[in-house]
Amino acid sequence: MKLQPIFNPSDWNLTQKQAALAEQSRELAASKFAPRAAKYDKEASFPTENYQDLANAGLLGICIPESEGGLGADLKTYMIAAAEIGRSCGATALTFNMHVSSCLWTGSLLDELELAPDIRAQHETMRRLHYKRILDEGKIYSQPFSEGGAAAAGFKAFGTTALKVDGGWKVTGKKIFASLSGHANFYGALCTALQTPDDKHSRRNTMYLAVPADADGVRVEGEWDPLGMRGTVSRTLIFDNVFVPDEAQLMPQGIYPSAAMRWPHMFMTLTPTYMGIAQACYDFTVAYLRGEVPGTPPVKRRMFPTKQLAVAQMRIMLEQTKSLWFQAISEAKPDPSQDSIMRAWSAQHTVMENANELAQLAIRTCGGQSMLRSLPLERLYRDSRCGSLMLPWTAELCLDKIGKGALYNAGESDDHE
Ligand SMILES: Cc1cc2nc3c(=O)[nH]c(=O)nc-3n(C[C@H](O)[C@H](O)[C@H](O)COP(=O)(O)OP(=O)(O)OC[C@H]3O[C@@H](n4cnc5c(N)ncnc54)[C@H](O)[C@@H]3O)c2cc1C
Repeated sequence: MKLQPIFNPSDWNLTQKQAALAEQSRELAASKFAPRAAKYDKEASFPTENYQDLANAGLLGICIPESEGGLGADLKTYMIAAAEIGRSCGATALTFNMHVSSCLWTGSLLDELELAPDIRAQHETMRRLHYKRILDEGKIYSQPFSEGGAAAAGFKAFGTTALKVDGGWKVTGKKIFASLSGHANFYGALCTALQTPDDKHSRRNTMYLAVPADADGVRVEGEWDPLGMRGTVSRTLIFDNVFVPDEAQLMPQGIYPSAAMRWPHMFMTLTPTYMGIAQACYDFTVAYLRGEVPGTPPVKRRMFPTKQLAVAQMRIMLEQTKSLWFQAISEAKPDPSQDSIMRAWSAQHTVMENANELAQLAIRTCGGQSMLRSLPLERLYRDSRCGSLMLPWTAELCLDKIGKGALYNAGESDDHE
């Protein structure tokens, strides 16, 4: 069955590029990734074949600027295309996001921030190295930020350190939940830069380095047997005094902290996977109640009023989710207003929680036979639960930020009362 676009290009006023990249992503994922998704999920193995397909399609370079040989998608264009992948394989979409983030940060995001000419020139030389690896050699990057403490939530400096040495940096630390571990060629790690081992750790000194997976001192540890998103292979990464040359920086030193502050919508890039899952739960339910899911008997259940009501409820939730998300990603730009950031947090919370709510409604509505492992719905259900856990904008932290943002103006506190 041919999938219709999540965002119809004419209804949602997509640009030609947005429509074309979304179509290419949807068709590739539906034809190649969907049939393989159950195997990766069962084995908790990495979708290597999918990455070969992404490389062959040029999609590993989706967010590399056109001037550098890539497809030149900006944040919004990427998000719309990535949601189409999430419909067919959540683990591929989520890991693809980790890879693409390294190109988005270094590409259109930094291109829209003003940099001193010498820093810009340094950045362009450095990023060319990474882009060439991706485009010419099909290399994959990942994004291990989390450490199990408050750093990935943005409240503390990273415990992983990069100590300045002759010609580069020595990186030491541990990253948990490092999706693509053992499979990425480069780990795009956030660490705290130190000029001497005794320097105080500060968030102002956060730097973004590409650690080669095959460098001495890099290890992958631990089991990976989670509830959902099993194909992400998010094991623990250890960096033990790993030498990383100066040119392997993904951004010149000192740039990441202000880029992260000025581009808050970048933290929404974990949502398209779950936007796709939300759509897939609805699509499955409609097809199932019409008796049209391949591999199931052609039994129609659509004539029952309770099913019709449930589908209506799901449709309303899906439309609300799509509309808020589309509006939030359409507003993405440097230095957004506080109102716009509040909408981004609201959209993040809505997508992550509603994907799971739609999955549970789909199972309840379709019934017992729909949650057999031979069908994708139970995987969608398990995968959907993971969205709200992603730092820095977990569902809880979104509520926290929205509540505080609503009740306090910038700089206000109750300390004096
Ligand atoms: C499938 C999957 C793939 C992942 N892939 C990656 C990846 O590639 N790279 C990466 O860096 N991370 C990745 N993560 C990790 C993710 O972003 C989180 O870091 C991780 O889920 C945090 O787990 P934790 O048990 O340490 O949570 P904790 O940090 O203990 O937080 C538990 C909950 O408490 C709340 N909380 C945390 N800090 C605060 C605070 N300061 N104030 C109030 N509430 C707070 C949050 O709601 C959070 O959900 C992945 C996670 C999953 C599930």
